[in-house]
Amino acid sequence: MALKVSASNTLQTDSEYGQPGVKCAIILIYVYTAINIKNVSETEVTCSNCQACCCRLEVMIITDTGVPDEHIALDKWGGNTMLRLEDGWCSALDRETFMCSIYENRPWVCREFEMDSYECHNEREVQVVASR
Ligand code: SF4
Ligand code: SF4
Repeated sequence: MALKVSASNTLQTDSEYGQPGVKCAIILIYVYTAINIKNVSETEVTCSNCQACCCRLEVMIITDTGVPDEHIALDKWGGNTMLRLEDGWCSALDRETFMCSIYENRPWVCREFEMDSYECHNEREVQVVASR
């Protein structure tokens, strides 16, 4: 069956499926789906419902913000990055609270990473997929 949404945003069916009962059922499905899509898009994105997804990324240290030496690693080009442990997370992440233990001294890159941004959403999705 072919469904179309007209310019006025109402559903139309091909003529052979145009009986009133079929139309009602189709419209109910359409409304139900629209409500569900709305709920998904309104899920709040906040660090408090995220297990520090972005703290598994490689973080370059490009300015001196006072990151303690024990959390600094050298990459293969000799640059400073945040050390990551075997579990994949930055060594400065508190594993109990999933909060940054050096918040006041965190690198510039971490300060610039915006909650609810495209990159944030992307990392959250990658982590959800990985943990399934
Ligand atoms: S900025 Fe985004 S990805 Fe990073 S901890 Fe917060 S919600 Fe998670
Ligand atoms: S320094 Fe803090 S905010 Fe930056 S990746 Fe490490 S734990 Fe996350």
